[in-house]
Amino acid sequence: MKAISKLVQEVPASGIRKFFDVVSQMEGVISLGVGEPDFVTPWHIREACIWSVEKGYTNYTSNYGLLQLREAISEYLEAAYGVSYSPRDAVLVTVGVSEGLDLALRAIINPGDEIIVVEPCYVSYKPCVSFAGGTPVAVGSDVSRDFRVTARDIEAAVTPRTKAILLSYPSNPTGAVLPCPDCLEIVEVARKHDLYMISDEIYANLTYEGEHTCFAALPGMKDRIILLNGFSKAYAMTGWRLGYAASNPQVIEAMMKIHQYTMLCAPIAAQMGAIEALKNGDAPMREMVAEYDNRRRFIVKGLNDIGLECFMPKGAFYAFPSIRRSGLSSEEFSSRLLFEEKVAVVPGDAFGECGEGHVRCAYASSIADIEEALHRMERFLRRLEKERA
Ligand code: PLP
Repeated sequence: MKAISKLVQEVPASGIRKFFDVVSQMEGVISLGVGEPDFVTPWHIREACIWSVEKGYTNYTSNYGLLQLREAISEYLEAAYGVSYSPRDAVLVTVGVSEGLDLALRAIINPGDEIIVVEPCYVSYKPCVSFAGGTPVAVGSDVSRDFRVTARDIEAAVTPRTKAILLSYPSNPTGAVLPCPDCLEIVEVARKHDLYMISDEIYANLTYEGEHTCFAALPGMKDRIILLNGFSKAYAMTGWRLGYAASNPQVIEAMMKIHQYTMLCAPIAAQMGAIEALKNGDAPMREMVAEYDNRRRFIVKGLNDIGLECFMPKGAFYAFPSIRRSGLSSEEFSSRLLFEEKVAVVPGDAFGECGEGHVRCAYASSIADIEEALHRMERFLRRLEKERA
């Protein structure tokens, strides 16, 4: 048989997947590994989906998505951030942020264009840039600034081939958020070098301290930003596969063209549920966020108490402690912790080189599970200390 695509062969398989294949075969594992809410989609949202099925809404929708949903998205963005997008041509409903990301990259990249990817970051970013024919250029951040990237570091990576900056705050895997002054400095770099910015704001509603800054709302930036957001995290809707992109109509038209030929539209029942989420989902969402906030404080205190230094994440649902004092690499630490104590965390280098020396602990699990995981981690650390003595 002829060989499969060279491009695809060259992209490494996700480090996380290998790990979770092992986890799924083991019994008794407490997983702080998966970046997925442990809540079920709130009932009123599920009910809206069921209602749509019962009423026989089983057809394709407009390629852009249901107009009623685009209107609800547009109203939401206006109310939350004061940024106004026409629901007719500036909003596209996608199959999760995952599809939005792929469309955004394919819509703007010419072969060889460079995309600055702020790390540590979601595992899909660099592969998606490569699949779209671009070259990912990593710009790191570190714990000395609580994983807030600097505009200076971004600017130092700009070349004549740079097309866009891709970033996501609140961050997966660090939980870092980017305060407004930092955002203003970064958009200045984008403006100066005439770059697009792809801002994945999927964790925006999971901001526990301070206000989320929406890049598109910064003065004069709306047309330059491709804003991606979705329903997976804030509304516990990962399985419904629904997201959206908002940008200037030219970019949205280009993204729509790809979407039209590859996906047609997002699933209609999920779109119906998303309308309900935006119209009436605020209170249940706030309850989930309050619970994540409790867990955040609990896990960060617990990690620091057992000797794994951890800065206080201000968003998303991840803690990103340093494991350097264990003397192990992130990969060794995660692997031994899994096999010896049955606790799954994700090695920090899965999210980029600068994540080495850390592990990602998702706190989308019950306090009881987090407590037991911390207890096992402490036992593991004591054992490592004895080994070294
Ligand atoms: N973006 C980030 C930063 C994520 O962490 C994830 C999922 O973990 C996604 C996008 C994928 O989101 P969706 O379920 O909307 O495709």
